[in-house]
Amino acid sequence: MSSEFTPQEGSCSCYSNTYTINAKPVGRFICHCTICQEYTGQAYNDVTVLLKSDVSQLNLIRTKFRRWKLPPNISRGLCTRCNKPSIEMAVGGNLILVPTSNYPDVTALPEPSMHLFYNRRVEDIDDDLPKYNGFVQSQAMMVKALAQGLYKRVSKR
Ligand SMILES: [Zn+2]
Repeated sequence: MSSEFTPQEGSCSCYSNTYTINAKPVGRFICHCTICQEYTGQAYNDVTVLLKSDVSQLNLIRTKFRRWKLPPNISRGLCTRCNKPSIEMAVGGNLILVPTSNYPDVTALPEPSMHLFYNRRVEDIDDDLPKYNGFVQSQAMMVKALAQGLYKRVSKR
């Protein structure tokens, strides 16, 4: 697959909030934690991770950010109109999380690499991806995968 990424305009489901994604995400995870369930209104959150500099032209006037208790440093934005996920910020805004449902072309994204908080799943998932349980394990494996994703990007230069 080519490393080129055609910029996409991400948005919430009603297009009130928009932003331009200029780079291929450094990671993609499927999170089954109860907060992600509440946040998305779905059984899990299929979400991509980007660097702050990968996302431009943020138009988030209709986004309301909220923090749940765990994980502590993710600020999750919901659209005030459609009430669906808009965008999420982590590590003081240096990482940006965009649910895959907010991309117009999901085929350009990397495949998900793992399931997180699988012990909280609503339904069993029948795939070959690794499945991690609980906060400590999920966080550790996610950080490791992000580091690998970042390294891949840096080493390409
Ligand atoms: Zn909306």
